[in-house]
Amino acid sequence: MNTVISSPSKQVWFRTLFICVSACIVSISAVSCDSVTDTVADIVMSPSDDKNLGAQIDNEIRSNPNEYPLLNNASANAYVQTMVNELIKAPEIKYRSLFAYKVEVIRDDKTINAFCTPGGYIYVYTGLMKMLDNEASLAGVIGHEIAHAERRHSAKRMVNAYGVSLLLAIALGNNPTQLESLAGNLFGNLALLKNSRDDESESDEDSFKYLRSTNIWYAGGVKFFFEKIQEQSSSTAIERLLSTHPLPSDRVQAVNEMIQKANLPTPTEATLRSVPYQAFLKTLP
Ligand SMILES: [Zn+2]
Repeated sequence: MNTVISSPSKQVWFRTLFICVSACIVSISAVSCDSVTDTVADIVMSPSDDKNLGAQIDNEIRSNPNEYPLLNNASANAYVQTMVNELIKAPEIKYRSLFAYKVEVIRDDKTINAFCTPGGYIYVYTGLMKMLDNEASLAGVIGHEIAHAERRHSAKRMVNAYGVSLLLAIALGNNPTQLESLAGNLFGNLALLKNSRDDESESDEDSFKYLRSTNIWYAGGVKFFFEKIQEQSSSTAIERLLSTHPLPSDRVQAVNEMIQKANLPTPTEATLRSVPYQAFLKTLP
């Protein structure tokens, strides 16, 4: 082992990781390597690093109005922020007090999307909001975005992109500048939007749980979003959305199965909230 190990805690991490890697190598059968990815992700990027990286990306977005024209409408932001605040009350949320969980509306009717940076800076496009019929659908999508931050999918993506050995060498060598530039390369141009199928499914599942826990909206809200996508699958805006949020049929099926398994009551106006949502849409330019 070389001498660059910088702190006792990292030595412990390294040993733990070595055990994980060994377990993965010797066990060809059912052991998943996800735990190795998670462990390396935790060494390389702490949740506080997520928050800092998110704040940097948030700054970049705010200083680039051509690409990200913010709506800058206090009451529209407040409407969506209230939904975020309700969703993060769900007991499954771990980083409620650490992450920003701040939402901003982007005025762009041609883009059907929403995204969340590491550390919980959430952006929702007017194009997405106008495509949806009710609050439950939007809550489903926002819940999905919150789950990407909570599950720290971006840190895991760094591990997948750069590999365990390179990132470990950097982490153990304690070279934050090098780490920052790697993160910059990966997340430049918001490449962080590119989510794997597994991350997408995991986020759908968590979104369902959050909505169910908050007990305001129909927990299967994200299903209506899928239906809209399928209805309009030939439009360019939907094609762009699918390039960052893949929607294979098994993802749709998994959500339908969750709904069935949970035996949810039929959605009503009380749990869909389409009337207040439509009134809200009328306030948008
Ligand atoms: Zn996603």
